[in-house]
Amino acid sequence: MEKLVYFFAKGQAEGSASMKDLLGGKGANLAEMTAIGIPVPPGFTISTRACNLYFERKRQMPEGLEGQVAKSLERLEKVQGKRFGDVADPLLVSVRSGAKFSMPGMMDTILNLGLNDRAVEGLARISGDRRFALDSYRRFIQMYSGVVLEVPKHDFERMIEAAKRARRVTDDTGLREKDLEKLVVQFKAHVKKVTGKPFPQDPTAQLWGAVAAVFRSWDNDRARLYRRQYGIPDDLGTAVNVQCMVFGNLGDDCATGVAFTRNPATGENAFFGEYLPNAQGEDVVAGIRTPLPISRVQAGGAGNDALEARHPSCYAQLLEIRDTLETHYKDMQDIEFTIERGTLYMLQTRTGKRTGLAALHIAFDFKEAGVIDTKTLLSRVDADMLVQLLAPIFDPKEKERARRDGRGLGKGLPAGPGAASGAIAFTAERAVEMAARGKAVLLVRSETSPEDLAGMVAAVGILTSRGGMTSHAAVVARGMGKPCVVGAETLRVDVDKRRLIASGRTLREGDPVSIDGSTGEVIAGGLEPHPSEIQQILVEKTLKPERSRLYGRYAQLMRWADDERRLKVRTNADTPHDAQVARAFGAQGIGLCRTEHMFFAEDRIAAVREMILADDLAGRTRALAKLLPMQRKDFIGIFQAMRGLPVTIRLLDPPLHEFLPTTPEQFRRLARQMRVPVARLQERAEQLHETNPMLGHRGCRLGITYPEVYEMQARAIFEAAAKCRASKVDVLPEIMIPLVGTVREFTDLAARIRAMGDVVFAKSKAPVAYLVGTMIEVPRACLCAGPIAKEAEFFSFGTNDLTQMTYGFSRDDIGKFLPVYLEERILAVDPFQSVDPDGVGRLVRLAVEEGRAARRDLKVGICGEHGGDPASVEFFHRCGLDYVSCSPYRVPVARLAAAHAALRERGGQGSQTA
Ligand code: PEP
Ligand code: MG
Repeated sequence: MEKLVYFFAKGQAEGSASMKDLLGGKGANLAEMTAIGIPVPPGFTISTRACNLYFERKRQMPEGLEGQVAKSLERLEKVQGKRFGDVADPLLVSVRSGAKFSMPGMMDTILNLGLNDRAVEGLARISGDRRFALDSYRRFIQMYSGVVLEVPKHDFERMIEAAKRARRVTDDTGLREKDLEKLVVQFKAHVKKVTGKPFPQDPTAQLWGAVAAVFRSWDNDRARLYRRQYGIPDDLGTAVNVQCMVFGNLGDDCATGVAFTRNPATGENAFFGEYLPNAQGEDVVAGIRTPLPISRVQAGGAGNDALEARHPSCYAQLLEIRDTLETHYKDMQDIEFTIERGTLYMLQTRTGKRTGLAALHIAFDFKEAGVIDTKTLLSRVDADMLVQLLAPIFDPKEKERARRDGRGLGKGLPAGPGAASGAIAFTAERAVEMAARGKAVLLVRSETSPEDLAGMVAAVGILTSRGGMTSHAAVVARGMGKPCVVGAETLRVDVDKRRLIASGRTLREGDPVSIDGSTGEVIAGGLEPHPSEIQQILVEKTLKPERSRLYGRYAQLMRWADDERRLKVRTNADTPHDAQVARAFGAQGIGLCRTEHMFFAEDRIAAVREMILADDLAGRTRALAKLLPMQRKDFIGIFQAMRGLPVTIRLLDPPLHEFLPTTPEQFRRLARQMRVPVARLQERAEQLHETNPMLGHRGCRLGITYPEVYEMQARAIFEAAAKCRASKVDVLPEIMIPLVGTVREFTDLAARIRAMGDVVFAKSKAPVAYLVGTMIEVPRACLCAGPIAKEAEFFSFGTNDLTQMTYGFSRDDIGKFLPVYLEERILAVDPFQSVDPDGVGRLVRLAVEEGRAARRDLKVGICGEHGGDPASVEFFHRCGLDYVSCSPYRVPVARLAAAHAALRERGGQGSQTA
């Protein structure tokens, strides 16, 4: 019979940390902690395999599971000396989910399972505290009914609120034994009314109800949304952990808390955590009561409330465990613990989520302490996290001015670094709506819950008035890399009236507000975010590298990444400024210069429109003559910025109508300029109208029909190259023809380009070596890659168009149906964001293979948006491409992602999703 249940107790465990696939992260680590002698309440883990069998069997428990669970319960009873279902001294358990990757707040937990009307009295006698026993029972009914029986959680909250009003208290702890007794009766009556059945009294039935609910919660909307957000596969399943209860709410010698072995926001090597005295499990994580700091240092001042002061011996033990865990796991851990009547129990350890800043510092600190090597260090920083290091900050002077102007609203905890400024939305729904209308939105809540996830995704930053550094808002925002301030207690958030009151000010929905997620400050009004330290050093050059420790480590990380990677990283840049920025970030050339972007500038657009609307060749030639010197100047600037590095310039690509005047005033102005009647221009514009412009008169088709346009561009490139060469600037131009689908399209245009090269270089008498190649973005080009490669000197995959044409999804209209596709799991991710390996990817592989067979030294790159997406970078690495090209700010991300890809290919480490 297949083993589906793994037991752990008193220094012995059937599982281990390496069994995350089977036991989930929580279960594997509970086993590991038990085995290395850390005090963990005994229990057992039902494997993810059992969860998958449950779904395979159409939500029926797998065969043999019942027997294995019964046996494990027996073992547990023996270890604890108590019986499950015993009414005199009941064994109580917690039931928690635990998938391979931690999914904060996504799954449900049930505590105190095993209680019923009779056992509650047993617990009262044994604990000597009837109030506690009743409180445990009402919590259990509440959790169980919410999670398993699907009674709205809100109903119970309302009854508790009413009880508190009647007793004239604000805290749950103000409720007396009699009140709780009444609540238990009310709760049970309510469950009966809603479900039609009495609240289950049989502990075994309770347990199976809970196990099934945990399995089902793998498939709930929130869990699915989270998995989609972080690229976690849907078929992993969750494990279920059943563990003996320990109580943090048995009096003032009890507590429960969560901690990070190092600061998860800054990476500082200091124990960092929060706890609640006399509280149970979820209270800290839920962010409902603002918890107390764990250490005196963290508390600042005397810190008499700190755990260190109140429970000195447990604190000392925790510090030892902190060291043991860090040494054992060789990484920063996120732990949960409970103190029951002075005895410490560890409930969880896992790799702690951290900001990009913390990831960098922690990895370097571990390396410098000799705990990890360079390759492991590289794997500890997710490529996407680098974006946070480049994230903007507020100008301290502007912030100071805002404070002096009385715009300071208060200070919360700096939960997610970075500066954000946006219009207030008080609910997740409004945040989504406002963001969809293109507004930068700041989600402001008293606290967040998993229901707010979509709003958090849509917002530029998150602000809450309650909760600590480990509250839902803080953990999720850090995971997303969003600026976040939590627990700003001086703020009053009134969601019903849609207002925020603080420092005598009232702010309403839509009003601008700013948060500094690195300091915790909240400021009324918009503040402009400014460049980060790294940007100040590399781009603005306003800060000296030696003044920034962060930069020093960043630069070292990048050097090590460069040592590992094989893929080159270029950038998509259309201006000398962008080229310079990208070069500062380490770009090894330009992979795509979209020449049409130069045409939109104020001084060009008129000439471009004139060219498009001209009736004949003579008219077009006149307009092109105006554009030539401007383009030449652009290219000189770019060549200078990229001296010594290759620059791929794409000839005109988009449908012409994109340049046309749209308003009557624009038509009138252009008509005056061109000295033609307005009506004629309008008529010409109508002629240019296309039903399906993305598949219409664009790309090389323009070059074929109006060769003079490409000839002008080629001339501008060659003349610019010749000029640079004359002034000793090393130039390596690569001229790229877009949207090629047939060999003839390429050969006809390449011939014209090369002829132009001959003319220009004959005149300049100093030829410059150049390449003529093509974009591969039409599926036919992939299928005919061999013959095309015989003619083209390089390929660059335009995966935006290639994705569009492979799926037949319009790039511009996918927003209308993509959300449903993702929701229904027809697609796992947006294929325009992360390359589709099976379809589009297959075409890429085919084209690389046949292209290189036809021309051995064919240079191959990719310049679609996917060039900055770590998963896609890994795919292109495996396809054997020479380079990826991405936007300037993604260049560091692509460099690190390329290193991860190379490390993983060699069987070493490499960062992974989630
Ligand atoms: C592409 O299609 O991938 C590409 C880079 O070109 P554009 O986005 O300009 O169409
Ligand atoms: Mg394209």
